[in-house]
Amino acid sequence: METKGVKAIIFDLDNTLIDTSGAGVVALQKVGELLKSSLSLDDASIETICNRFKQKLYNEVFNPAMGKNIDQVRSLHWEESIQETVGSCPNESLGSDCYKLWKSTRLQLLTMSPEVQALLKDLRTKYKLLLLTNGETQTQREKVEVSNCEEFFDEVVVGGEQVEQKPSVSIFRLCLEMLGVEAHDCIIVGDSLDTDIQGGLKAHLKATVWIKRAEANESNVIKPHYTVANVLELPQVLAHLN
Ligand SMILES: [Mg+2]
Repeated sequence: METKGVKAIIFDLDNTLIDTSGAGVVALQKVGELLKSSLSLDDASIETICNRFKQKLYNEVFNPAMGKNIDQVRSLHWEESIQETVGSCPNESLGSDCYKLWKSTRLQLLTMSPEVQALLKDLRTKYKLLLLTNGETQTQREKVEVSNCEEFFDEVVVGGEQVEQKPSVSIFRLCLEMLGVEAHDCIIVGDSLDTDIQGGLKAHLKATVWIKRAEANESNVIKPHYTVANVLELPQVLAHLN
């Protein structure tokens, strides 16, 4: 009777199963140290460079047809952030050195905690599990690989490999098809109201479970069925649903 209500669970990856934001903070600190030693900059300039990089990352629209891969695009973000702050990028390879350090630091920290791994293992005995992550293919596939996520899921879907990403209904339809379940058999768990929750609502899933991070604001428009502080609270939600 355990699975009477829910047959499948779709999970978001970033900031739901792994602490991508926390890893990003540490990665920026590391790059800050590199900039300090290589350019002898003061803390305020380093902060400006890091903030500019974050902004470029946030506004990034990746198009492989432009002839650059994601590594080149992001190395250029660093180079431009340095240039815009100090007037020039004194060392040709500094942008790519910053990027390599930022990327490797971030990836090293993107692991699922033993508690999250145990939760997924347990859920897999009762439910079909699908990982649905938005973003550029190479970046997301690298995260999936380093966090050893794949073995915990029946299916992995990367938004950048599909026609449309979350919150589009089409990608949710694809997930349901892959899982072999109907919308009313499936729930989604994620930290983003705009993509995970809105998408789950538009696709008429049985329930949407919002992982509300400390700094997140509730929305008057997008109302999740359940709100929890941590993915580890999911068993209580499932007990309520089933
Ligand atoms: Mg997320």
